[in-house]
Amino acid sequence: MSESRIVRDPVCGMPLELDKVRFKAEFGGKVYYFCSEYCKRRFFERPKIAYFSMEIGIKSEIPTYSGGLGVLAGDTIRSSADLRIPMIAVTLVSRKGYLKQRIMEDGEQLEYPDEWDPSEYIICLPQMVEVPIEGRRVKVRAWLYEYQSVTGGVVPILFLDTDVDGNSPEDRCITDYLYGGDERYRLKQEIVLGIGGVRMLEALNIKVAKYHMNEGHSSLLTLELLRKNGMNQDEVKNLCIFTTHTPVEAAFDKFPYKLIQEVLGEDFLPLETLKKYGGQEWLNMTLLALNLSKYTNGVTKAHMEYSRKLFPGHHIMAITNGVHSYTWTSPFFRKLFDKYIPGWANEPELLVRVGVIPDDELWEAHMKAKKHLLEFVHERVEVTMDSEILTIGFARRATAYKRATLIFSDLNRLREVNRTGKIQMIFAGKAHPKDIPGKMIIKDIYKYAKMLKDEIRIVYLENYSMDMAAKLTSGVDVWLNTPLPPLEASGTSGMKAAHNGVLNFSVLDGWWVEGCIEGVTGWAIGPHPDEIVSGDERRRRELRDLYNKLEYLIIPTFYERRDKWIDMMSNAIGKVAYYFNSHRMMQRYATEAYLL
Ligand SMILES: *Cc1c(COP(=O)(O)O)cnc(C)c1O
Repeated sequence: MSESRIVRDPVCGMPLELDKVRFKAEFGGKVYYFCSEYCKRRFFERPKIAYFSMEIGIKSEIPTYSGGLGVLAGDTIRSSADLRIPMIAVTLVSRKGYLKQRIMEDGEQLEYPDEWDPSEYIICLPQMVEVPIEGRRVKVRAWLYEYQSVTGGVVPILFLDTDVDGNSPEDRCITDYLYGGDERYRLKQEIVLGIGGVRMLEALNIKVAKYHMNEGHSSLLTLELLRKNGMNQDEVKNLCIFTTHTPVEAAFDKFPYKLIQEVLGEDFLPLETLKKYGGQEWLNMTLLALNLSKYTNGVTKAHMEYSRKLFPGHHIMAITNGVHSYTWTSPFFRKLFDKYIPGWANEPELLVRVGVIPDDELWEAHMKAKKHLLEFVHERVEVTMDSEILTIGFARRATAYKRATLIFSDLNRLREVNRTGKIQMIFAGKAHPKDIPGKMIIKDIYKYAKMLKDEIRIVYLENYSMDMAAKLTSGVDVWLNTPLPPLEASGTSGMKAAHNGVLNFSVLDGWWVEGCIEGVTGWAIGPHPDEIVSGDERRRRELRDLYNKLEYLIIPTFYERRDKWIDMMSNAIGKVAYYFNSHRMMQRYATEAYLL
């Protein structure tokens, strides 16, 4: 019996011999095989979780993501497929992607469209729906990508697209740029996503158990559901789940009612109804989702606390984010885990048994990942980095609150630190084209790199992507994270690092409040969120920790106490990765939200 002839039932996961399968069915141009009539029927008829997200990071070649939110959506889909949770995802096709980044010699960012052609990857479905936009009936179609897991499970992803014959040239561009354009463009996109998405699921005859909104961009779906359910708000609430990702009021998506009336029209729903759920002054997408979802959660415990303060009276829970273990574990560690912890990929809690892996093999896998990264750096920027030097990584969207330049606050102190034991640094990240301070951060890093060039090797890699994130989070020694609390609702890149035994050195914000055991799983920077401190005091303590811990703890442990360092690597895997993964996260969504 050869391996290639075994297929898996997407519902129960049973392995089947292809020649002998009696039950099969076609879906989206692909044939699925089933163990029984029951599973075949369940595949089509079982009500599904409809997971809505403005961005989805499924792989680097499909550039429909800008950062952590989209990658989280991708990990949600990957884990749901592995666990065979019945899910279908809905997003926009974003034909021109987020942006392709080039950086000039002085650190100036240039942006280009990151075009992709969906027909190269996925099939176009024949169904067509319409949404009201500025009095026109804009046609929306869907491209289908089926994410299939080795367990047999499958999650279809619908990429909604308005580039359709019969739409005006302007309307054909609505699904071009992720987070591009002005407020009106964004509203049109959210109409396509929320309202168009619900209509497309209906056109495809898909039964929906719950609508899960990943952030407020898809909240307009609640309005479509109100219409479908005879304005019965309880019916709608019972169908909706909302995950908020933003801890600050100012960052919520909101639209003036005048614009809503111009774009969505005045007869979609009465203005009083919109105001009742979306707020008096603006249509606040977060408030709308909150008011019409029975289950709402923040993405870490700390974020839940802030959200409860922002929205008193709302019952907000916490499901702490995770990352997809297999995706974010480097090939070198996958091999190691396969050898010593078989089954880890679909049962990442087994990583708690990391103690069975010999120290020298952990270190060897790490050195391979590190050398692999340094070769990649050499290819990209022609800088030779030394694999024996303590390497610090920092890569994420370039935006002010993430404070990528905090480590350069006192250059002389940093030079002093570097004299006790050498360090080198790798940065990456894109700034949104309209984020002027974000772009300034990149320029500043270039400037500091130049100022320190004879002492500390510092590189900035262009065009950050999922592939690059995987290389960086597995190939450095220390993953640095210095957001301004409480603005990092979760953060996930540090969880990727932990899966590869890379140690986190981070401000106590978002997930790290739950993940940090000082000196055991990594190190903290600055005060605990329970401490009330002034902005000045916070900064003073953050800088003190940054430099002192580097000089007195991190550098000496790395260079002189390799055994202790490997212990901590092991803890990162066994005490951090075993928990901060999207399998645990999706099992919680399933039991606490989807079954509600
Ligand atoms: C994981 C990931 C992120 C999220 O990084 P944070 O540090 O959590 O902000 C952003 N972009 C890409 C490409 C990623 O893979």
